[in-house]
Amino acid sequence: MPRCPVCSANVDLNAVVTPPFCSERCRVIDLGRWLDEAYAVPEIRRGDDDEGDGEGPIPPELLRGDEDEG
Ligand SMILES: [Zn+2]
Repeated sequence: MPRCPVCSANVDLNAVVTPPFCSERCRVIDLGRWLDEAYAVPEIRRGDDDEGDGEGPIPPELLRGDEDEG
């Protein structure tokens, strides 16, 4: 018989309505764990991007590109 991944209780797949979990409660707990991992973004090292010469955010006026060719 399979076991509930949360509480390791035996799960009767024919009896429970939240397989593979033994109960709605365990299903929610597992979902919460999964979301915690999803939100816990690992630190991304931004190496060798460019030589830091004081590059700041781009001013909005430069972002509005209304360039006319010619
Ligand atoms: Zn359970």
